[in-house]
Amino acid sequence: MSGQHHPEPESYAAIRTKAIESLLIEKGLFTGDAIDAKVQAFENDIGPMNGAKVVARAWLDSGYRKRLLTNGREAISEMGFADTQGAELVVLENSPAVHHVVVCTLCSCYPWSVLGLPPTWYKSHAYRSRVVIEPRKVLKEFGLELDDSVEVRVWDSNSDIRYMVLPERPDGTEGMPEEKLVELVSRDCMLGVAKAKTPTQVG
Ligand code: FE
Repeated sequence: MSGQHHPEPESYAAIRTKAIESLLIEKGLFTGDAIDAKVQAFENDIGPMNGAKVVARAWLDSGYRKRLLTNGREAISEMGFADTQGAELVVLENSPAVHHVVVCTLCSCYPWSVLGLPPTWYKSHAYRSRVVIEPRKVLKEFGLELDDSVEVRVWDSNSDIRYMVLPERPDGTEGMPEEKLVELVSRDCMLGVAKAKTPTQVG
């Protein structure tokens, strides 16, 4: 399976899902819009919640953080989020000196067990081709300006290894409970195209 990016491009499950979806629309039980809304929820809210919980836990529990950075897949399944396809999950820790960014240059391999479905931009040719060549410029377009002293490392995912970023814990979060910390963790900061939000940004 090595080197293949999509181990099952048209899996039975995918085809079956499509068939059910068109049947539901045809029968008038569902609209395409309603389905799009659900998919968006998986992209933005429901999916990345798993990753956000992992991050908040790592910020609070240094033992867990260590396990997460040593063996991401095991530490993530500890929280009940398992990758049934068995891909390795490597967690990259951002620091004031090093900033990690995740891409799949060939297609759209994504740490779906923690982040849900990939957003459209992640799958776009522009992101996939440009982030490896001019990461700082691409990050700036996402609204993230990094100091020249920060080293930027870009990680290319594949079917065997997926990556997720452990963002820096924002200032002003001392003593904050886990469920509040979770709210600061966006999907984008776990891909490295943003930082975790500050308590003021969340409001
Ligand atoms: Fe891929």
